[in-house]
Amino acid sequence: MPTHPVLISSDQIQKRIRQLSREIRSHYKNKDLVILGLLNGSLFFLVDLLRHLPDRLEIECWRLRSYPAGHRQSSGKVEGLKEGHGNFKNKHVLIVDDILDTGLTLSSVKQRLTELGACDVKICVLLKKKKKRQRPITAKWSCFEIGDEFVFGYGLDYDGYYRQVPEIRTLKV
Ligand code: 5GP
Ligand code: MG
Repeated sequence: MPTHPVLISSDQIQKRIRQLSREIRSHYKNKDLVILGLLNGSLFFLVDLLRHLPDRLEIECWRLRSYPAGHRQSSGKVEGLKEGHGNFKNKHVLIVDDILDTGLTLSSVKQRLTELGACDVKICVLLKKKKKRQRPITAKWSCFEIGDEFVFGYGLDYDGYYRQVPEIRTLKV
């Protein structure tokens, strides 16, 4: 791993999650909240964030894909949305994802949740890329803003591997 520099350490991630969770707890106080995790990328972030949130909430996960296996660029299509289910009617939904990049994934998920009757949909991401989005979508909560480089670790894959690397690293090829 040493060839791929550490961009964000595991301590920085945990510290930021604790800060963010305080804001999220106070925002959703006395509301019926559903956390919708998007897998696989948000796996570690989702679990670590949930450790700091109240017990009284529902957890759903959808498995989506916009990067075909072995690719480092979005295909421009989001697969797995149709399979998305769960009871979202009149619920406050917080989508938890790894990265907001082009915005295609998150805007498609948001639209699907609206079709399923959610009364409020907000977004929480681990990383937000600086680049211009292809869809007009914003995340109410994001841990870190990064440049346009390809990153992996802490749930994010590099060619399908290395998701369990504890920190976020920049790919150097
Ligand atoms: P979007 O639909 O916003 O373009 O893409 C979001 C998805 O693309 C993320 O959830 C993630 O799965 C993938 N993605 C975007 N940038 C990166 C990156 O730098 N590294 C990895 N591993 N995945 C990325
Ligand atoms: Mg993803």
